[in-house]
Amino acid sequence: LQSITIRRPDDWHVHFRQGEMLANMVPLTSRHFKRARVMPNTDPPILTGAQALIYHGEIMAVAPAGFETKMTIKVVPETTPAIVREAFGLGIDAGKLYPDGVTTLSANGVRDFKALSPVFAEMEKLGMVLCLHGEDPGEDVFCLDREERFLKTLQWILDKFQGLKVVMEHLSTAEAVYVVEHFPTKNLAATVTPHHLENTLNDVIDGGLRPHHYCKPIAKRPEDRDRLIRAVTRLGQTKFFLGTDSAPHYRESKECDCGAAGVFTAPLALPLLAQIFEENGALGQLEAFTSVNGANFYGLPLNEETITLVREPWTVPDEYSGVVPLRAGKEIRWQVASDLG
Ligand SMILES: [Zn+2]
Repeated sequence: LQSITIRRPDDWHVHFRQGEMLANMVPLTSRHFKRARVMPNTDPPILTGAQALIYHGEIMAVAPAGFETKMTIKVVPETTPAIVREAFGLGIDAGKLYPDGVTTLSANGVRDFKALSPVFAEMEKLGMVLCLHGEDPGEDVFCLDREERFLKTLQWILDKFQGLKVVMEHLSTAEAVYVVEHFPTKNLAATVTPHHLENTLNDVIDGGLRPHHYCKPIAKRPEDRDRLIRAVTRLGQTKFFLGTDSAPHYRESKECDCGAAGVFTAPLALPLLAQIFEENGALGQLEAFTSVNGANFYGLPLNEETITLVREPWTVPDEYSGVVPLRAGKEIRWQVASDLG
């Protein structure tokens, strides 16, 4: 097979940042993706529907025609049912919750989940989706155990709010895959990133520190990565969909004494996924993961446009506007036909 044509994909988890970086990043996502769900951990964060609309305007000002965003508000300890109602009324269909201190700009995040019960109840009533960064922020928790330890909090949320739709974002462990696969209703789904399908902890710290492979949740064991690959490539799977978590930081914020978490993948996510799915004999399942399952979960129409990938090797650039991408300087066997020079 030398080419594959699929529905135009969506990215259900992306960070565009602000200002000049936003202006550089939005076109790199819109080149391949029809829609993107934009995460709210800006500085200051997006806490209300009104703020989300302003942020949406900043994105649209630099986006090409036809590109669509789905905005999120950040669910914080101060979030109230009234804030949720107002945001939903303005068309904001999801809230993103970061446990305290687990990743970029997540200070003042959530520790007391039970205290947010009225907010979860309101989201459940409205049909607003809860997107979870599922890591236990406890000081006593070892960094590689944070996702597994969070699963009891996830279970509590799902038990207590049985109509609430929940996305576990950027899965990184076999244990979390198991929970999502075996959950009995359609209310729980998960995003998976290209870098968690590519890297293990070896790619971050073995044979030299690789700051551009450092993200939260941290890439884990080969068994975890292989379990993620099996989950997303399984014929007929509906619970896993693409959220790149493409998270740009300037080179100097990564290559320093306390480097920021985040892997930048927007321009190469789709070619790399084609390569990974092909290696696993599952190119036929690529479209479900990139272009179908997410829209279905969010109750949105499938994209009618298509995109064609061709088997034509290219080398990933060393930098995009000061940001070092995953696989910088390395070859990927597939590329999007419209990118061919
Ligand atoms: Zn993220």
